[in-house]
Formats: sequence, structure tokens, C-alpha cells
Amino acid sequence: MECSLCGSPAVVHQRSSGRHLCRDHLLGSVESRVRRTLREDGGLPPGSRLAVGLSGGKDSSSALHLLHSIYGRRPGVSLVAVTVDEGIESYRPRTLESARALAGRLGVEHRVVRYEDVYGVTMDRAVEGGESHPCGLCGPLRGGLLVRAAREMGATHLATGHNLDDEAQTILMNVLRGDAARLLRGRVDVEEGRLMPRVKPLRGVPEKEVALYALLRGLPVSWEECPYASGALRSEVRGFLNRFEVDHPGAKYAVVRGFERAGRGRGGPPLGGCVRCGEPSSGELCNACRVLVGRGFARA
Ligand code: SF4
Repeated sequence: MECSLCGSPAVVHQRSSGRHLCRDHLLGSVESRVRRTLREDGGLPPGSRLAVGLSGGKDSSSALHLLHSIYGRRPGVSLVAVTVDEGIESYRPRTLESARALAGRLGVEHRVVRYEDVYGVTMDRAVEGGESHPCGLCGPLRGGLLVRAAREMGATHLATGHNLDDEAQTILMNVLRGDAARLLRGRVDVEEGRLMPRVKPLRGVPEKEVALYALLRGLPVSWEECPYASGALRSEVRGFLNRFEVDHPGAKYAVVRGFERAGRGRGGPPLGGCVRCGEPSSGELCNACRVLVGRGFARA
């Protein structure tokens, strides 16, 4: 197959546009979508310090690479990277190596924060106790620790590597769960007291194109899968969206754009402080403390 734009050998069929793209046109297409996303979000004002959550996987590594290429030399904006080590021996050490390699290659300050140091428990220990839904425990802890570490590094904004597929899945999952608070807060997750504004540069780029981007740019990425990955609902929603996208190209993009337009200017329920740790929370306990207390790893 040939590139629809220049006739060179194509590396991808971009379902949403119907085009086949070669290496250079795919890289250019990803980069221009990321720039457009950042522009639509208003960019970063002078004095910004952007912390990038860096797992060492394809998404966060591509996000850091792209953000570094855009903001790396911009006066008044600085970048740092944060990796959360959940304590999963068969998985995290290799991804950590990749994260360290990329941060080192780009010359970005990099910090690793560990569950064990902050929460006093590792995921390996948590699942030994018979945890039936590891991601339900791990997700809130990861999110909480990422924000805390970013704040400690002086960050004003937090970037994550969520791609178009992740975002469309999360929106549909929140709809199916009837979770209005999370649905409304979503990306807005910001500007509410001490919440840190989020940057998701890849939210307009499908997962397949992010993976190709990481490969074609030669990023030191780990392709390891977490052994505790769970979530029946997410995998059902992923399957549904992938099937729907085949018959209705651009459906994932429509879900994300529709939600953003509907949610613009809304911040969800007001946030107070978690009674246990003081982090922003819409209930008495923040999500991280709720799962720690609920599973008996901490006292209220
Ligand atoms: Fe944690 Fe689940 Fe991610 Fe594994 S897949 S690191 S358990 S949230």
C-alpha cells in the first residue's frame, strides 16, 4: 500500500481519515494533532513547570518525547518526569529502566516514587492478601501519588499519556456506571482549589498510532504488560468501541470530542479536603485513602 500523500510505502491505515500514511507523514500527523490539542487547551503560560507521568510504556514515553520537543527549549517552561513504582517485581523494574533511559536521553529531571515508601504496602503484597480487583486498588493510589510527587517537584501542571482509546473507554465506562461526578469532572479535574491542571497531549491520537510513533522514533519503550491488569468492564468497552469503529470510522474521536464540548466549563461537584491526608476530595476521604482504609491497609 502507498502513502495517500506522497506515494512512499505506507506504514498505517488511518481509519478516521481513510488515508494510508508513510513513516514521515504518520509522524507529522501525530505531532500536528498533539500541537493542536495543546493549543486548544490554551498551552502553558510562562512560569509553568510540567510534570509528566512516565511509566516507561509507549504512551507516556511518546508523551514525554513530544512535550520535550515542543516545550523543551521554550523559555519560562520546564519539564520533569515522575514514575510511580507500585512494587510489582515481575514488571516494574524493566519499565523503570526504560523510563530512566528516556529521561536521561532527553536530559529531563526524573523522580521515582514508591508505594512502599508512601503507603507502606506494595502491589505484590496487596494481591497476596487475595485482592480480587487489583486495578481498583492500584488506580487511585497511582493517581494520588502522581499528583503528590508532581506537587513536591514544584509542578504547576501534570501530563499523562492517555491516548484516544483510553479516553473514549473511560468516558463510556463512566456513563455505564452512572458515575456523574467523575464524568463531569473528567478532564476539567482542574482549577478546583488545589487540583493540578491536567494535560493529555495524546488524547486525540489512537493507541495504534501512538505505538507506531514510539517505534518509529526509536524510543526506549518497555512493552511489558502488568501481570495484575484487570477490569472486565474496560475490556468489554474496548471490544465494543473497536468493533463500532470498524463500521463507523471516527466514532472514538466523536465520543471524546462530544464529551469535551458538553463538559466544557463544568467542574463537577465542589471539592473539599480528604479528612485523612488533606488531598482534594469530593467525599470525606480521597480515592487513595478510601481504598487504603477499605482494604485494611490504613486507618481512617
Ligand atoms: Fe496497577 Fe492495574 Fe496498572 Fe497494574 S494494570 S499498574 S495493577 S492500575
